[in-house]
Amino acid sequence: MTNIFKDLWLTDKTLSALEKKWFEKPSPIQSEIIPLLLLNKKNIIWQAETWTGKTAAFGLPLIERLTPSKTIQALILVPTRELAVQVAEEINSLQSQKWLGVVPIYWGQSYTIQNNLLRRWADILVWTPGRVMDHMKKGTIKLDKISYFILDEADEMLNMGFIEDIKTIFTQTNKDKRVLLFSATMPREILSVVKKYMWEYDHISIKKEQMTTTQTEQTYVQVNDRDRVEALCRIMDHQPDFYGIVFCKTKADVDFLSAKLEDRWYFVQALHGDIKQKQRETILKWFKQQKIKILIATDVAARWIDVNDMTHVVNYWLPQDSEKYIHRVGRTGRAGKTWKAISIIGPNDLKKILYIGKITKTDIKKMEIPEIENVIENKQNKLMTNIKWVIEKGSFSKYLSFANKLLEDNKAEEIIAAMLKMSYQNELDEDNYRPIQKLNIVWNSGKVRLFVALGKIAWYSAKTLVDYIEKETGVRSRFIDDVYILNDFSFITVSDVDAEVIIRSFSKNKSWWRSLVSKAKENKSAWDSRGPRRFDRKSSGGYGKSSSGYGKSSSGYGKSSSSKPQNRTKKWYY
Ligand code: AMP
Repeated sequence: MTNIFKDLWLTDKTLSALEKKWFEKPSPIQSEIIPLLLLNKKNIIWQAETWTGKTAAFGLPLIERLTPSKTIQALILVPTRELAVQVAEEINSLQSQKWLGVVPIYWGQSYTIQNNLLRRWADILVWTPGRVMDHMKKGTIKLDKISYFILDEADEMLNMGFIEDIKTIFTQTNKDKRVLLFSATMPREILSVVKKYMWEYDHISIKKEQMTTTQTEQTYVQVNDRDRVEALCRIMDHQPDFYGIVFCKTKADVDFLSAKLEDRWYFVQALHGDIKQKQRETILKWFKQQKIKILIATDVAARWIDVNDMTHVVNYWLPQDSEKYIHRVGRTGRAGKTWKAISIIGPNDLKKILYIGKITKTDIKKMEIPEIENVIENKQNKLMTNIKWVIEKGSFSKYLSFANKLLEDNKAEEIIAAMLKMSYQNELDEDNYRPIQKLNIVWNSGKVRLFVALGKIAWYSAKTLVDYIEKETGVRSRFIDDVYILNDFSFITVSDVDAEVIIRSFSKNKSWWRSLVSKAKENKSAWDSRGPRRFDRKSSGGYGKSSSGYGKSSSGYGKSSSSKPQNRTKKWYY
Protein backbone atom coordinates (compact mmCIF):
# COMPACT_ATOMS: atom_id res chain seq x y z
CA MET A 1 0.00 0.00 0.00
CA THR A 2 1.39 3.34 -0.95
CA ASN A 3 2.27 5.98 1.54
CA ILE A 4 2.06 9.02 -0.73
CA PHE A 5 -0.81 10.69 -2.54
CA LYS A 6 1.27 11.07 -5.71
CA ASP A 7 1.07 7.31 -6.29
CA LEU A 8 -2.70 7.30 -6.28
CA TRP A 9 -3.34 8.47 -9.86
CA LEU A 10 -4.58 11.86 -8.75
CA THR A 11 -4.14 14.98 -10.89
CA ASP A 12 -1.82 17.81 -9.91
CA LYS A 13 -4.78 20.05 -9.15
CA THR A 14 -6.12 17.60 -6.61
CA LEU A 15 -2.68 17.08 -5.16
CA SER A 16 -2.37 20.80 -4.58
CA ALA A 17 -5.82 20.85 -2.90
CA LEU A 18 -4.60 18.10 -0.57
CA GLU A 19 -1.49 20.07 0.19
CA LYS A 20 -3.62 23.08 1.10
CA LYS A 21 -5.56 20.90 3.50
CA TRP A 22 -2.31 19.70 5.06
CA PHE A 23 -3.04 16.09 4.24
CA GLU A 24 0.46 14.64 4.15
CA LYS A 25 -0.15 11.01 3.42
CA PRO A 26 -3.17 8.93 2.53
CA SER A 27 -4.98 6.97 5.19
CA PRO A 28 -5.08 3.18 4.63
CA ILE A 29 -8.61 3.33 3.25
CA GLN A 30 -7.57 6.10 0.85
CA SER A 31 -4.53 4.19 -0.39
CA GLU A 32 -6.68 1.21 -1.16
CA ILE A 33 -9.88 2.66 -2.48
CA ILE A 34 -8.78 5.64 -4.59
CA PRO A 35 -6.93 3.53 -7.21
CA LEU A 36 -9.83 1.03 -7.28
CA LEU A 37 -12.28 3.80 -8.00
CA LEU A 38 -10.10 5.46 -10.58
CA LEU A 39 -8.87 2.39 -12.43
CA ASN A 40 -11.86 0.03 -12.64
CA LYS A 41 -15.61 0.10 -12.60
CA LYS A 42 -16.59 -2.46 -10.02
CA ASN A 43 -19.05 -1.94 -7.18
CA ILE A 44 -17.49 -1.95 -3.76
CA ILE A 45 -18.68 -2.70 -0.26
CA TRP A 46 -16.30 -1.54 2.35
CA GLN A 47 -16.29 -2.31 6.03
CA ALA A 48 -15.04 0.97 7.41
CA GLU A 49 -15.22 2.74 10.71
CA THR A 50 -15.97 6.44 10.97
CA TRP A 51 -13.08 8.89 10.96
CA THR A 52 -10.90 6.77 8.73
CA GLY A 53 -10.75 9.34 5.95
CA LYS A 54 -13.44 7.64 3.88
CA THR A 55 -15.06 10.87 2.67
CA ALA A 56 -11.88 11.79 0.84
CA ALA A 57 -11.49 8.14 -0.22
CA PHE A 58 -14.65 8.33 -2.31
CA GLY A 59 -14.74 12.14 -2.70
CA LEU A 60 -11.39 12.46 -4.48
CA PRO A 61 -12.26 9.97 -7.27
CA LEU A 62 -15.63 11.72 -7.74
CA ILE A 63 -13.81 15.01 -8.18
CA GLU A 64 -11.39 13.43 -10.65
CA ARG A 65 -14.04 11.67 -12.71
CA LEU A 66 -16.98 14.10 -12.86
CA THR A 67 -17.25 17.24 -14.96
CA PRO A 68 -19.57 20.06 -13.83
CA SER A 69 -22.83 19.76 -15.74
CA LYS A 70 -25.46 20.89 -13.23
CA THR A 71 -27.20 17.55 -13.50
CA ILE A 72 -27.21 14.99 -10.73
CA GLN A 73 -24.26 12.67 -11.34
CA ALA A 74 -23.61 11.31 -7.88
CA LEU A 75 -25.96 10.61 -4.99
CA ILE A 76 -24.48 10.15 -1.53
CA LEU A 77 -26.84 8.91 1.18
CA VAL A 78 -25.91 9.56 4.79
CA PRO A 79 -27.83 8.91 8.04
CA THR A 80 -27.90 12.40 9.54
CA ARG A 81 -28.14 16.01 8.57
CA GLU A 82 -24.88 16.82 10.37
CA LEU A 83 -23.07 14.20 8.37
CA ALA A 84 -24.64 15.50 5.15
CA VAL A 85 -23.21 18.96 5.81
CA GLN A 86 -19.85 17.56 6.90
CA VAL A 87 -19.46 15.30 3.86
CA ALA A 88 -20.45 18.09 1.46
CA GLU A 89 -18.00 20.49 3.11
CA GLU A 90 -15.20 17.94 2.98
CA ILE A 91 -15.73 17.16 -0.71
CA ASN A 92 -16.00 20.86 -1.51
CA SER A 93 -12.77 21.60 0.26
CA LEU A 94 -11.02 18.89 -1.76
CA GLN A 95 -11.87 20.27 -5.17
CA SER A 96 -9.50 22.83 -6.47
CA GLN A 97 -11.45 25.13 -8.81
CA LYS A 98 -13.30 22.27 -10.36
CA TRP A 99 -16.62 23.93 -9.54
CA LEU A 100 -18.65 20.79 -9.11
CA GLY A 101 -21.85 21.63 -7.28
CA VAL A 102 -21.80 19.65 -4.03
CA VAL A 103 -25.12 20.10 -2.28
CA PRO A 104 -26.24 18.81 1.12
CA ILE A 105 -29.99 18.35 1.38
CA TYR A 106 -31.76 17.50 4.60
CA TRP A 107 -34.85 18.08 6.71
CA GLY A 108 -35.28 21.65 7.84
CA GLN A 109 -34.16 23.41 4.66
CA SER A 110 -37.00 25.09 2.76
CA TYR A 111 -38.19 23.32 -0.37
CA THR A 112 -37.72 26.52 -2.42
CA ILE A 113 -34.01 26.56 -1.56
CA GLN A 114 -33.70 22.85 -2.21
CA ASN A 115 -35.47 23.03 -5.56
CA ASN A 116 -33.25 25.90 -6.62
CA LEU A 117 -30.11 24.02 -5.62
CA LEU A 118 -31.32 20.94 -7.44
CA ARG A 119 -32.16 22.76 -10.65
CA ARG A 120 -29.22 25.09 -10.89
CA TRP A 121 -26.31 23.78 -9.01
CA ALA A 122 -26.26 20.09 -8.14
CA ASP A 123 -23.68 17.66 -9.51
CA ILE A 124 -23.14 15.74 -6.30
CA LEU A 125 -25.98 15.43 -3.82
CA VAL A 126 -25.44 14.51 -0.20
CA TRP A 127 -28.76 13.48 1.26
CA THR A 128 -30.54 11.85 4.10
CA PRO A 129 -32.82 9.10 2.70
CA GLY A 130 -36.08 10.65 4.01
CA ARG A 131 -35.49 13.82 2.05
CA VAL A 132 -34.75 11.94 -1.16
CA MET A 133 -38.07 10.14 -0.79
CA ASP A 134 -39.92 13.44 -0.39
CA HIS A 135 -38.41 14.84 -3.56
CA MET A 136 -39.02 11.65 -5.46
CA LYS A 137 -42.68 11.72 -4.44
CA LYS A 138 -42.99 15.35 -5.47
CA GLY A 139 -41.26 14.61 -8.75
CA THR A 140 -38.63 17.31 -8.12
CA ILE A 141 -35.70 14.98 -8.84
CA LYS A 142 -34.87 12.29 -11.25
CA LEU A 143 -32.18 9.79 -10.40
CA ASP A 144 -32.17 7.73 -13.55
CA LYS A 145 -28.92 9.05 -14.98
CA ILE A 146 -26.53 8.95 -12.08
CA SER A 147 -23.00 7.59 -12.36
CA TYR A 148 -22.34 6.99 -8.65
CA PHE A 149 -24.56 5.89 -5.80
CA ILE A 150 -22.79 5.99 -2.46
CA LEU A 151 -24.21 4.78 0.83
CA ASP A 152 -22.23 6.09 3.76
CA GLU A 153 -22.61 4.57 7.24
CA ALA A 154 -25.16 2.08 5.92
CA ASP A 155 -25.56 0.34 9.27
CA GLU A 156 -26.49 3.64 10.90
CA MET A 157 -29.11 4.21 8.22
CA LEU A 158 -30.46 0.74 8.97
CA ASN A 159 -30.61 1.54 12.69
CA MET A 160 -32.52 4.70 11.93
CA GLY A 161 -35.14 2.78 9.98
CA PHE A 162 -34.16 3.94 6.50
CA ILE A 163 -33.73 0.51 4.95
CA GLU A 164 -37.04 0.46 3.03
CA ASP A 165 -36.39 3.98 1.74
CA ILE A 166 -32.98 2.85 0.53
CA LYS A 167 -34.51 -0.07 -1.34
CA THR A 168 -37.03 2.27 -3.01
CA ILE A 169 -34.29 4.70 -3.98
CA PHE A 170 -32.32 1.83 -5.52
CA THR A 171 -35.31 0.91 -7.70
CA GLN A 172 -35.59 4.49 -8.97
CA THR A 173 -31.98 4.70 -10.12
CA ASN A 174 -30.48 3.54 -13.42
CA LYS A 175 -28.80 0.13 -13.50
CA ASP A 176 -25.52 1.21 -15.04
CA LYS A 177 -24.31 3.22 -12.06
CA ARG A 178 -21.46 2.38 -9.77
CA VAL A 179 -22.42 1.59 -6.19
CA LEU A 180 -20.21 2.04 -3.15
CA LEU A 181 -21.43 1.02 0.27
CA PHE A 182 -19.61 1.86 3.48
CA SER A 183 -20.58 0.33 6.77
CA ALA A 184 -18.80 -0.36 10.05
CA THR A 185 -20.74 -3.61 10.43
CA MET A 186 -22.49 -5.79 7.88
CA PRO A 187 -25.85 -6.88 9.33
CA ARG A 188 -28.02 -9.34 7.41
CA GLU A 189 -30.43 -6.64 6.16
CA ILE A 190 -27.59 -4.70 4.57
CA LEU A 191 -26.13 -7.77 2.94
CA SER A 192 -29.55 -8.56 1.48
CA VAL A 193 -29.71 -5.08 -0.08
CA VAL A 194 -26.19 -5.56 -1.38
CA LYS A 195 -27.03 -8.91 -2.95
CA LYS A 196 -30.24 -7.69 -4.50
CA TYR A 197 -29.05 -4.39 -5.93
CA MET A 198 -25.31 -4.49 -6.31
CA TRP A 199 -24.81 -7.60 -8.43
CA GLU A 200 -21.10 -7.99 -8.67
CA TYR A 201 -18.99 -6.27 -6.13
CA ASP A 202 -15.69 -6.37 -4.25
CA HIS A 203 -16.00 -6.75 -0.50
CA ILE A 204 -13.08 -5.14 1.26
CA SER A 205 -12.33 -4.83 4.92
CA ILE A 206 -9.03 -3.36 5.81
CA LYS A 207 -6.59 -4.88 8.21
CA LYS A 208 -5.84 -2.85 11.28
CA GLU A 209 -2.92 -0.51 10.77
CA GLN A 210 0.16 -2.06 12.24
CA MET A 211 1.45 0.34 14.78
CA THR A 212 4.28 0.07 17.16
CA THR A 213 5.12 1.88 20.34
CA THR A 214 8.56 0.43 20.78
CA GLN A 215 10.43 3.40 19.35
CA THR A 216 8.99 5.64 22.00
CA GLU A 217 10.27 6.10 25.52
CA GLN A 218 7.23 5.54 27.68
CA THR A 219 6.76 6.61 31.26
CA TYR A 220 4.03 7.46 33.70
CA VAL A 221 3.73 9.78 36.66
CA GLN A 222 1.36 9.22 39.56
CA VAL A 223 -0.63 12.09 41.02
CA ASN A 224 -3.88 12.85 42.73
CA ASP A 225 -6.46 14.15 40.28
CA ARG A 226 -6.27 17.64 41.78
CA ASP A 227 -2.55 17.80 40.91
CA ARG A 228 -2.87 16.82 37.26
CA VAL A 229 -2.61 20.37 35.86
CA GLU A 230 0.40 21.15 38.01
CA ALA A 231 2.10 17.90 36.99
CA LEU A 232 1.47 18.65 33.32
CA CYS A 233 2.91 22.17 33.67
CA ARG A 234 6.05 20.85 35.27
CA ILE A 235 6.46 18.15 32.64
CA MET A 236 6.09 20.70 29.86
CA ASP A 237 8.33 23.29 31.48
CA HIS A 238 11.00 20.77 32.36
CA GLN A 239 11.66 20.40 28.64
CA PRO A 240 11.89 23.97 27.39
CA ASP A 241 11.52 22.84 23.76
CA PHE A 242 8.34 20.92 24.49
CA TYR A 243 6.37 20.38 21.29
CA GLY A 244 3.54 17.91 21.46
CA ILE A 245 -0.02 16.77 21.88
CA VAL A 246 -1.76 16.47 25.22
CA PHE A 247 -4.59 13.94 25.01
CA CYS A 248 -7.84 14.13 26.94
CA LYS A 249 -10.82 11.80 26.86
CA THR A 250 -13.67 14.22 26.17
CA LYS A 251 -14.34 17.59 24.58
CA ALA A 252 -15.22 18.97 28.01
CA ASP A 253 -11.83 17.85 29.36
CA VAL A 254 -10.08 19.49 26.42
CA ASP A 255 -11.88 22.80 26.99
CA PHE A 256 -11.30 22.65 30.72
CA LEU A 257 -7.58 21.93 30.42
CA SER A 258 -7.04 24.52 27.69
CA ALA A 259 -8.66 27.18 29.87
CA LYS A 260 -6.53 26.16 32.88
CA LEU A 261 -3.34 26.34 30.84
CA GLU A 262 -4.29 29.66 29.29
CA ASP A 263 -4.80 31.01 32.81
CA ARG A 264 -1.18 30.09 33.42
CA TRP A 265 -0.09 31.88 30.23
CA TYR A 266 0.57 28.86 28.06
CA PHE A 267 -0.13 29.35 24.38
CA VAL A 268 -2.24 26.31 23.54
CA GLN A 269 -4.89 25.30 21.03
CA ALA A 270 -7.80 22.95 21.62
CA LEU A 271 -8.80 20.37 19.03
CA HIS A 272 -11.98 18.33 19.25
CA GLY A 273 -15.03 17.30 17.28
CA ASP A 274 -16.87 20.62 17.73
CA ILE A 275 -14.11 22.59 16.06
CA LYS A 276 -15.14 23.49 12.53
CA GLN A 277 -13.22 21.96 9.65
CA LYS A 278 -11.74 25.31 8.50
CA GLN A 279 -10.54 26.17 11.98
CA ARG A 280 -9.17 22.66 12.39
CA GLU A 281 -7.12 23.07 9.24
CA THR A 282 -5.71 26.38 10.47
CA ILE A 283 -4.83 24.87 13.85
CA LEU A 284 -3.10 21.94 12.16
CA LYS A 285 -1.15 24.28 9.92
CA TRP A 286 0.03 26.34 12.89
CA PHE A 287 0.93 23.23 14.82
CA LYS A 288 2.98 21.82 11.96
CA GLN A 289 4.70 25.16 11.55
CA GLN A 290 5.34 25.14 15.32
CA LYS A 291 3.53 28.43 15.78
CA ILE A 292 1.58 26.53 18.40
CA LYS A 293 3.62 24.04 20.34
CA ILE A 294 0.97 22.58 22.61
CA LEU A 295 -2.14 20.97 21.22
CA ILE A 296 -4.83 19.76 23.62
CA ALA A 297 -6.90 17.15 21.80
CA THR A 298 -9.33 14.27 21.92
CA ASP A 299 -8.39 10.96 20.32
CA VAL A 300 -10.69 11.36 17.38
CA ALA A 301 -9.69 14.91 16.57
CA ALA A 302 -5.97 14.12 16.65
CA ARG A 303 -6.09 10.84 14.82
CA TRP A 304 -4.62 12.25 11.65
CA ILE A 305 -1.93 14.36 13.12
CA ASP A 306 1.38 12.97 12.13
CA VAL A 307 4.11 15.41 12.94
CA ASN A 308 7.67 14.29 12.72
CA ASP A 309 9.46 16.64 15.06
CA MET A 310 7.16 16.36 18.04
CA THR A 311 9.01 15.87 21.32
CA HIS A 312 6.15 14.59 23.46
CA VAL A 313 2.81 12.89 23.60
CA VAL A 314 1.13 13.31 26.97
CA ASN A 315 -1.83 11.29 28.15
CA TYR A 316 -3.43 13.80 30.47
CA TRP A 317 -6.11 11.17 30.93
CA LEU A 318 -5.44 7.57 30.01
CA PRO A 319 -7.41 6.39 27.01
CA GLN A 320 -10.25 3.90 27.33
CA ASP A 321 -8.34 0.97 25.84
CA SER A 322 -4.92 -0.14 24.73
CA GLU A 323 -5.71 0.35 21.05
CA LYS A 324 -6.30 4.03 21.62
CA TYR A 325 -3.09 4.18 23.60
CA ILE A 326 -1.19 2.74 20.65
CA HIS A 327 -2.86 5.23 18.35
CA ARG A 328 -1.83 8.12 20.55
CA VAL A 329 1.67 6.99 21.30
CA GLY A 330 2.76 4.81 18.41
CA ARG A 331 3.27 5.59 14.79
CA THR A 332 4.22 3.70 11.67
CA GLY A 333 7.21 4.17 9.39
CA ARG A 334 8.86 6.81 11.47
CA ALA A 335 12.45 5.90 10.88
CA GLY A 336 14.67 7.21 13.62
CA LYS A 337 12.16 9.75 14.94
CA THR A 338 11.15 9.22 18.53
CA TRP A 339 9.32 11.10 21.18
CA LYS A 340 8.58 10.69 24.80
CA ALA A 341 5.18 9.45 25.84
CA ILE A 342 4.18 10.41 29.36
CA SER A 343 0.96 9.27 30.99
CA ILE A 344 -0.39 11.14 33.96
CA ILE A 345 -2.19 8.61 36.06
CA GLY A 346 -4.42 8.98 39.08
CA PRO A 347 -4.50 6.81 42.19
CA ASN A 348 -6.81 4.27 40.55
CA ASP A 349 -5.10 3.99 37.18
CA LEU A 350 -2.09 1.89 38.04
CA LYS A 351 -3.65 -1.40 37.06
CA LYS A 352 -4.76 0.10 33.78
CA ILE A 353 -1.31 1.36 32.80
CA LEU A 354 0.26 -1.98 33.76
CA TYR A 355 -2.33 -3.69 31.63
CA ILE A 356 -1.64 -1.38 28.69
CA GLY A 357 2.08 -2.09 29.07
CA LYS A 358 1.41 -5.83 28.92
CA ILE A 359 -0.85 -5.63 25.90
CA THR A 360 1.49 -3.33 23.97
CA LYS A 361 4.48 -5.38 25.11
CA THR A 362 6.32 -2.31 26.36
CA ASP A 363 7.90 -1.44 29.59
CA ILE A 364 6.13 1.72 30.73
CA LYS A 365 8.40 2.98 33.47
CA LYS A 366 7.49 5.04 36.47
CA MET A 367 8.91 8.56 36.40
CA GLU A 368 9.10 11.15 39.16
CA ILE A 369 7.41 14.47 38.54
CA PRO A 370 10.16 17.04 37.96
CA GLU A 371 10.99 19.04 41.07
CA ILE A 372 10.39 22.79 40.89
CA GLU A 373 14.12 23.63 41.25
CA ASN A 374 14.93 21.36 38.31
CA VAL A 375 12.24 22.91 36.19
CA ILE A 376 13.53 26.43 36.91
CA GLU A 377 17.11 25.31 36.36
CA ASN A 378 16.24 23.87 32.97
CA LYS A 379 14.47 27.06 32.00
CA GLN A 380 17.44 29.15 33.08
CA ASN A 381 19.85 26.92 31.17
CA LYS A 382 17.79 27.28 28.06
CA LEU A 383 17.72 31.05 28.49
CA MET A 384 21.48 31.14 28.95
CA THR A 385 22.00 29.11 25.79
CA ASN A 386 19.80 31.56 23.90
CA ILE A 387 21.63 34.59 25.30
CA LYS A 388 25.02 33.08 24.43
CA TRP A 389 23.80 32.39 20.95
CA VAL A 390 22.73 36.04 20.49
CA ILE A 391 26.06 37.25 21.88
CA GLU A 392 27.97 34.96 19.51
CA LYS A 393 25.94 36.20 16.58
CA GLY A 394 26.65 39.78 17.71
CA SER A 395 23.38 41.10 16.35
CA PHE A 396 22.65 43.56 19.18
CA SER A 397 24.79 46.57 18.30
CA LYS A 398 21.73 48.82 18.08
CA TYR A 399 21.12 48.32 21.80
CA LEU A 400 24.66 48.97 23.02
CA SER A 401 24.40 52.72 23.55
CA PHE A 402 21.15 52.26 25.50
CA ALA A 403 22.83 49.55 27.58
CA ASN A 404 25.67 51.90 28.45
CA LYS A 405 23.18 54.56 29.46
CA LEU A 406 21.48 52.12 31.82
CA LEU A 407 24.85 51.19 33.28
CA GLU A 408 25.60 54.83 34.19
CA ASP A 409 23.13 54.78 37.10
CA ASN A 410 22.74 51.08 38.01
CA LYS A 411 24.72 47.96 38.63
CA ALA A 412 24.86 45.48 35.73
CA GLU A 413 23.30 42.61 37.72
CA GLU A 414 20.42 44.83 38.87
CA ILE A 415 19.66 45.86 35.32
CA ILE A 416 19.71 42.30 34.06
CA ALA A 417 17.51 41.10 36.95
CA ALA A 418 15.00 43.91 36.30
CA MET A 419 14.90 43.07 32.59
CA LEU A 420 14.40 39.39 33.31
CA LYS A 421 11.54 40.26 35.62
CA MET A 422 9.97 42.47 32.95
CA SER A 423 10.38 39.89 30.19
CA TYR A 424 9.54 36.74 32.07
CA GLN A 425 7.21 38.03 34.80
CA ASN A 426 7.12 35.19 37.29
CA GLU A 427 7.97 32.49 34.79
CA LEU A 428 11.35 31.87 36.37
CA ASP A 429 9.92 32.17 39.85
CA GLU A 430 9.46 29.11 42.02
CA ASP A 431 6.22 30.58 43.37
CA ASN A 432 4.75 30.03 39.95
CA TYR A 433 4.38 26.37 40.87
CA ARG A 434 2.39 24.63 43.53
CA PRO A 435 3.52 21.73 45.67
CA ILE A 436 2.36 18.30 44.55
CA GLN A 437 1.52 15.59 47.02
CA LYS A 438 3.76 12.59 46.33
CA LEU A 439 1.95 9.38 45.52
CA ASN A 440 3.65 6.08 45.62
CA ILE A 441 1.10 3.43 44.96
CA VAL A 442 2.55 0.04 44.16
CA TRP A 443 0.50 -2.66 42.65
CA ASN A 444 0.18 -5.71 44.81
CA SER A 445 -0.86 -8.16 42.25
CA GLY A 446 -3.85 -10.17 43.41
CA LYS A 447 -4.71 -13.55 41.99
CA VAL A 448 -7.76 -14.31 39.91
CA ARG A 449 -9.32 -17.70 39.20
CA LEU A 450 -10.50 -17.98 35.60
CA PHE A 451 -12.96 -20.32 34.01
CA VAL A 452 -11.95 -21.55 30.54
CA ALA A 453 -14.59 -23.23 28.37
CA LEU A 454 -12.18 -25.88 27.07
CA GLY A 455 -11.60 -29.23 28.66
CA LYS A 456 -10.68 -32.86 28.15
CA ILE A 457 -13.47 -33.45 25.62
CA ALA A 458 -11.82 -30.89 23.38
CA TRP A 459 -8.56 -32.83 23.85
CA TYR A 460 -6.92 -30.32 26.12
CA SER A 461 -4.38 -31.33 28.70
CA ALA A 462 -2.93 -28.88 31.19
CA LYS A 463 0.08 -28.32 28.99
CA THR A 464 -1.77 -27.84 25.73
CA LEU A 465 -4.26 -25.51 27.39
CA VAL A 466 -1.55 -23.35 28.89
CA ASP A 467 0.36 -23.31 25.60
CA TYR A 468 -2.80 -22.33 23.75
CA ILE A 469 -3.49 -19.46 26.16
CA GLU A 470 0.09 -18.26 25.83
CA LYS A 471 -0.14 -18.33 22.04
CA GLU A 472 -3.45 -16.47 21.93
CA THR A 473 -2.81 -13.87 24.58
CA GLY A 474 0.91 -13.51 25.02
CA VAL A 475 0.65 -14.27 28.77
CA ARG A 476 3.63 -16.51 29.49
CA SER A 477 2.79 -20.04 30.57
CA ARG A 478 4.97 -19.74 33.65
CA PHE A 479 2.58 -17.11 34.97
CA ILE A 480 -0.40 -19.43 34.61
CA ASP A 481 -0.91 -21.37 37.77
CA ASP A 482 -3.02 -23.99 39.34
CA VAL A 483 -4.48 -25.46 36.16
CA TYR A 484 -7.41 -27.76 36.69
CA ILE A 485 -8.87 -29.59 33.71
CA LEU A 486 -12.38 -31.06 33.71
CA ASN A 487 -14.29 -32.69 30.89
CA ASP A 488 -15.99 -29.61 29.45
CA PHE A 489 -14.04 -26.78 31.01
CA SER A 490 -11.01 -25.87 33.05
CA PHE A 491 -9.78 -23.42 35.63
CA ILE A 492 -6.55 -21.48 35.83
CA THR A 493 -5.14 -18.92 38.26
CA VAL A 494 -3.32 -15.81 37.07
CA SER A 495 -2.50 -12.34 38.35
CA ASP A 496 -5.29 -9.81 37.96
CA VAL A 497 -3.44 -7.91 35.24
CA ASP A 498 -2.90 -11.11 33.27
CA ALA A 499 -6.55 -12.04 33.88
CA GLU A 500 -7.57 -8.79 32.23
CA VAL A 501 -5.27 -9.50 29.27
CA ILE A 502 -6.60 -13.04 28.84
CA ILE A 503 -10.28 -12.12 29.16
CA ARG A 504 -9.97 -9.21 26.76
CA SER A 505 -7.94 -11.16 24.22
CA PHE A 506 -10.54 -13.89 24.08
CA SER A 507 -13.52 -11.57 24.12
CA LYS A 508 -12.30 -10.19 20.79
CA ASN A 509 -13.02 -13.56 19.25
CA LYS A 510 -16.59 -12.92 18.19
CA SER A 511 -17.16 -16.37 16.72
CA TRP A 512 -17.70 -17.84 20.18
CA TRP A 513 -21.28 -17.88 21.38
CA ARG A 514 -20.06 -16.68 24.71
CA SER A 515 -16.75 -15.61 26.04
CA LEU A 516 -14.26 -18.45 26.11
CA VAL A 517 -12.75 -17.19 29.33
CA SER A 518 -14.41 -15.47 32.26
CA LYS A 519 -13.86 -14.94 35.94
CA ALA A 520 -14.77 -18.06 37.89
CA LYS A 521 -17.55 -17.72 40.40
CA GLU A 522 -16.86 -18.72 43.92
CA ASN A 523 -18.75 -21.66 45.32
CA LYS A 524 -17.58 -23.67 48.21
CA SER A 525 -19.99 -26.57 48.30
CA ALA A 526 -19.76 -27.40 44.59
CA TRP A 527 -16.04 -27.76 44.83
CA ASP A 528 -16.01 -29.56 48.11
CA SER A 529 -18.27 -32.30 46.84
CA ARG A 530 -16.05 -32.79 43.81
CA GLY A 531 -12.80 -32.37 45.63
CA PRO A 532 -9.75 -30.64 44.25
CA ARG A 533 -8.45 -33.22 41.80
CA ARG A 534 -5.33 -31.40 40.83
CA PHE A 535 -1.73 -32.29 40.45
CA ASP A 536 1.03 -30.01 41.40
CA ARG A 537 3.72 -29.68 38.74
CA LYS A 538 6.31 -30.20 41.39
CA SER A 539 4.68 -33.09 43.19
CA SER A 540 3.56 -34.87 40.03
CA GLY A 541 6.93 -34.38 38.41
CA GLY A 542 5.75 -32.14 35.61
CA TYR A 543 2.69 -32.11 33.46
CA GLY A 544 2.81 -35.60 32.06
CA LYS A 545 0.09 -37.25 30.03
CA SER A 546 -1.70 -38.69 32.99
CA SER A 547 -2.01 -35.51 35.00
CA SER A 548 -5.28 -33.68 34.86
CA GLY A 549 -3.66 -30.41 35.74
CA TYR A 550 -0.55 -28.69 36.82
CA GLY A 551 0.16 -25.92 39.16
CA LYS A 552 3.08 -24.13 40.52
CA SER A 553 4.28 -24.04 44.03
CA SER A 554 5.22 -20.92 45.89
CA SER A 555 8.31 -20.63 43.73
CA GLY A 556 6.15 -18.64 41.27
CA TYR A 557 5.75 -14.92 41.62
CA GLY A 558 3.49 -13.79 44.44
CA LYS A 559 2.20 -16.32 46.84
CA SER A 560 -0.29 -18.42 45.05
CA SER A 561 -2.74 -20.43 47.07
CA SER A 562 -1.81 -23.31 44.80
CA SER A 563 1.19 -24.02 46.95
CA LYS A 564 -1.04 -25.20 49.74
CA PRO A 565 -3.97 -27.01 48.19
CA GLN A 566 -4.87 -28.80 51.36
CA ASN A 567 -5.49 -25.51 53.16
CA ARG A 568 -7.77 -24.10 50.56
CA THR A 569 -10.89 -22.47 51.82
CA LYS A 570 -12.01 -20.80 48.60
CA LYS A 571 -13.23 -23.11 45.86
CA TRP A 572 -14.53 -22.16 42.48
CA TYR A 573 -16.95 -23.29 39.92
CA TYR A 574 -18.52 -21.59 36.95
P1 AMP B 1 -13.69 11.11 7.60
O1 AMP B 1 -13.39 9.73 8.07
O2 AMP B 1 -13.84 11.18 6.13
O3 AMP B 1 -14.88 11.67 8.35
O4 AMP B 1 -12.44 12.05 7.95
C1 AMP B 1 -12.08 12.38 9.28
C2 AMP B 1 -11.16 13.60 9.35
O5 AMP B 1 -9.88 13.27 8.85
C3 AMP B 1 -11.63 14.80 8.55
O6 AMP B 1 -11.42 15.95 9.35
C4 AMP B 1 -10.70 14.84 7.35
O7 AMP B 1 -10.49 16.15 6.87
C5 AMP B 1 -9.42 14.25 7.92
N1 AMP B 1 -8.62 13.51 6.93
C6 AMP B 1 -9.06 12.66 5.99
N2 AMP B 1 -8.03 12.14 5.29
C7 AMP B 1 -6.90 12.68 5.81
C8 AMP B 1 -5.49 12.56 5.51
N3 AMP B 1 -5.05 11.76 4.56
N4 AMP B 1 -4.62 13.27 6.26
C9 AMP B 1 -5.08 14.08 7.26
N5 AMP B 1 -6.38 14.25 7.58
C10 AMP B 1 -7.28 13.55 6.87
